[in-house]
Amino acid sequence: MENVVIIGSGCAGWTAAIYTARANLNPLLITGQQPGGLLTTTSIVENFPGFRDGVEGTGLMTEMQEQATRFGTRVQYLSRVDSVDFSGSPLKLTVEGEVIETKSVIVAVGAGHKHLGAPGEHELENKGVTYCATCDGALPVFRNKPLVVIGGGDSACEEAMYLTRFASQVYLIHRRDSLRASRIMAERTLANEKITPVWNSVVEEVLDVSQDKVTGVRLKNTVTGETSTLDCAGVFVAIGHTPNTQIFQNQLTMTEAGYIVLGEGSRTNVQGVFAAGDCADSVYRQAITAAGMGCAAAIDAERYLAGL
Ligand code: NAP
Repeated sequence: MENVVIIGSGCAGWTAAIYTARANLNPLLITGQQPGGLLTTTSIVENFPGFRDGVEGTGLMTEMQEQATRFGTRVQYLSRVDSVDFSGSPLKLTVEGEVIETKSVIVAVGAGHKHLGAPGEHELENKGVTYCATCDGALPVFRNKPLVVIGGGDSACEEAMYLTRFASQVYLIHRRDSLRASRIMAERTLANEKITPVWNSVVEEVLDVSQDKVTGVRLKNTVTGETSTLDCAGVFVAIGHTPNTQIFQNQLTMTEAGYIVLGEGSRTNVQGVFAAGDCADSVYRQAITAAGMGCAAAIDAERYLAGL
């Protein structure tokens, strides 16, 4: 029987592993099929404290992993949890056909960026297409250039506002003619002289795969059906996130959007199951906040196990 199984290998998962390993709980971490999580999909991370020149996303995750294993975390690489049974004690996880029994679980499965699904988007990812302005906005390739943000929610507005620090102009492309974002955020965004809204428009194609970099987008007007081209050096997709929580349906309490609902601290509705990071956070979604939540979940799990 395991003391604690950590599901997920992003900032939250590795931080929980470091803390539970140092508390002598002999944790087992299941990495999932994208070890290192979303941070490994970005180039340089400039806002994680302690790295004044920035740190490469994959490098940061490798450091966390080394730190966790140095203290004795056992890791099942590239395996994923197929299903869970939290109906009784012990808690049960099925990992690639094998059932693991455990006294506690830390769920740190993260969230994925929603993708547009437009031609060119995938091919030009990290070549001008990005899903995180805070991570990538300050890169030299985007400085003093026109940039495009897709979406009409708080994330899109926040990203557009942030990008005005670097861009010559930011075009906010939204499929309707009014923003979904909170009123204050929408007003601030629309009042910013550097932001031009492009209403009723969807991206039909990200250009230009043949040049191996973003040079613009082909847009379609959702009302008139007309198409047009807009030149830009970067496309920031901010159309929402999808928490990777499908396997916890009917077991953990979640919001309509699939975020795990936390009670006191990192506790979920099931005794002994804790959650941390982007799967339980629809607001901040930063590497450093995920790490902090992982730390909190580890401390909560440690106290829970001590009380058994
Ligand atoms: P969101 O509120 O779900 O907004 C997603 C936006 O993307 C919507 O405007 C939606 O259009 C658009 N969209 C969705 N799929 C699309 C597609 N396939 N093609 C084109 N456009 C598409 O997501 P979010 O902005 O990431 O925010 C998520 C939650 O976090 C919200 O509760 C938000 O308030 C919160 N948040 C808060 C803050 C803050 O308070 N500082 C910052 C960021 C996020 P429609 O409007 O037409 O559906």
